Amino acid sequence: MITAEPYWIDIPLEQMSQAQWEALCDGCAYCCLVKLEDEDSGEMALTRVSCHLLDTDSCRCQDYPRRLQQVAQCMQLTPQVLPMVIKQNWLPTSCAYRLLYEGKPLPDWHPLVSGDAQTVHQAGASVKGFVLSEDDVHPDQLLDFMIENT
Ligand code: SF4
Ligand code: SF4
Repeated sequence: MITAEPYWIDIPLEQMSQAQWEALCDGCAYCCLVKLEDEDSGEMALTRVSCHLLDTDSCRCQDYPRRLQQVAQCMQLTPQVLPMVIKQNWLPTSCAYRLLYEGKPLPDWHPLVSGDAQTVHQAGASVKGFVLSEDDVHPDQLLDFMIENT
């Protein structure tokens, strides 16, 4: 009997349709956290403060279709920019795009595997529960909210 593998195993990232590519996002929202750059080393540090467009309860962008026009720091993730973004440590080690790029499987809590969009939160793999909106934090206080990169 021939059994088909899930598309994310069978289809290389650069050959996926837009819908397949978008569905890889697990909704963790780690890429929506404000980052601080060390001016000397160029290293990036994460904060537990998010972009103002993130709904901190659902961990969803409140204007996904127009996000790139609304937020200058927001990035369109594509197969072409993925190597650079991973090298600069902008994505957590659990990000599905990073996992597949590195030849690793998706975790059991990934919504594509579990069939449930909430399992990323139930597994503690998202920013839900500890994130603050940048609307509620003064820019001078960002250093106080630095966290370890995941
Ligand atoms: S870090 Fe990766 S999986 Fe998480 S929200 Fe961003 S793109 Fe999606
Ligand atoms: S604009 Fe939306 S997708 Fe982009 S960083 Fe902000 S919340 Fe995240």
